[in-house]
Amino acid sequence: MSARILVVDDVPANVKLLEARLSAEYFDVMTASNGTEALEICARAECDIILLDVMMPDIDGFEVCRRLKSDPATHHIPVVMVTALDSPADRNRGLEAGADDFLTKPVSDVVLIARVRSLTRLKMMTDELRMRAITSLEIGMQAPERSAVADTGKGGRILLVDDRQSSYERLAGLLAAEHTVDVEPNPTEALFHAAEGNYDLLIVSLDLNNFDGLRLCSQARSLERTRHVPILAIADPENSTRLLRGLEIGVNDYLLRPIDKTELLARARTQIRRRRYTDHLRDNVQNSIEMAITDALTGLHNRRYMESHLATLAEQASTRGKPLALMILDIDYFKSINDNYGHDAGDDVLREFAVRVRKSIRGIDLACRYGGEEFVIVMPETDLHVAGMVAERLRRSIAGEPFAVHKGTKRIEVTISIGLTTLEQKGEAVADVLKRADTALYRAKHDGRNRVVSQAA
Ligand code: GH3
Ligand code: MG
Ligand code: MG
Repeated sequence: MSARILVVDDVPANVKLLEARLSAEYFDVMTASNGTEALEICARAECDIILLDVMMPDIDGFEVCRRLKSDPATHHIPVVMVTALDSPADRNRGLEAGADDFLTKPVSDVVLIARVRSLTRLKMMTDELRMRAITSLEIGMQAPERSAVADTGKGGRILLVDDRQSSYERLAGLLAAEHTVDVEPNPTEALFHAAEGNYDLLIVSLDLNNFDGLRLCSQARSLERTRHVPILAIADPENSTRLLRGLEIGVNDYLLRPIDKTELLARARTQIRRRRYTDHLRDNVQNSIEMAITDALTGLHNRRYMESHLATLAEQASTRGKPLALMILDIDYFKSINDNYGHDAGDDVLREFAVRVRKSIRGIDLACRYGGEEFVIVMPETDLHVAGMVAERLRRSIAGEPFAVHKGTKRIEVTISIGLTTLEQKGEAVADVLKRADTALYRAKHDGRNRVVSQAA
């Protein structure tokens, strides 16, 4: 995991120091001595994380950060402000500018490496998702970057795990100004509560009585339902070494007590914003996978999916010596449905047809829209005789009940013809199976339609 870190500082000695420490841990280091240069490097997408000095002559660090975070092309790059100033007011200025973290000069080695490692992990995961989500952009889905840049990070759902009443009352009160907060004072219930609650953020105290808060954090990381929920740890200063352990096991951010109100709110917003962004990316990836294999009108699989999956099913059938049946279904005189009732009515018929097909087949059968009004159903472990009965049942389910079109104001009679065959037992090319089914379909049409014709292999 070799991330590329950009170190930005106008003082060459500071750059050299950070560069040496990061290189020693095998990070790939780039440097810039002013804000303009840093922005250029980021625009060329050349770095994974930025360590950014605050006080610089031309554009200061706050401004560089603000620009990076408001540009959809760079907002996802984690920014760590490195500052000699360490008043809550300065930290808050940085957080308002969208900084992901702070390091105070002189920078402690352990803290530096822990933070950079944890941000690297996060960046790698986000990059992976971004790459996959590019497909969804190509097919016209909304880019998550736009909403991410506009997201205030407010209105989140937070679970606060803390067993000290004075502490959780205060924290919950502060957070309630911007979010919905649930408190879980019982750490043994917390994981269950977190998994059930669909939270945007978990805030976990590491100073629990008789309970290891880090254990909870690591359990939350391994549980499917909570794996992607960000965790903000809070701890007493004497527990700060445990915070570093926390970062290693997947805690996203931390705060030391006494907790400053503005900083708490800013850090919560940053985590929630990031959570929404990665969720959005993940949804896009999921949708684009589904869109790539699904026919939009009927919700059945599309031809591309069928063709690749059919090859796998055929191979399985011949190696296991099981039968495999395949039928092609074609709606009779579909063109005249369009001509007489309109294209929308034709679409209604196709949708309803798909619903009836789904009801008639098993879960392991594969149904797809092969072309306009032509469908293919593949049935594993099914011989010609049984497939013939399924086909006949299907034919009847279409012919036996008129189709409602025009929002149910009209009902029309629809019939289908079916060509059916099976895969040769010794195995054969799927194209040949499809061709044989097609020939059978042609005969069904020729013989008068509304019928099933089987053709043995
Ligand atoms: P046959 O009984 O021989 O199958 O006659 P047919 O009219 O069903 O066959 P043909 O192939 O001549 O016509 C198919 C029609 O299906 C033509 C095309 O406009 C229509 N069609 C294809 N895709 C869609 C679609 O998505 N929606 C609608 N409404 N019509 C479609
Ligand atoms: Mg037809
Ligand atoms: Mg046709």
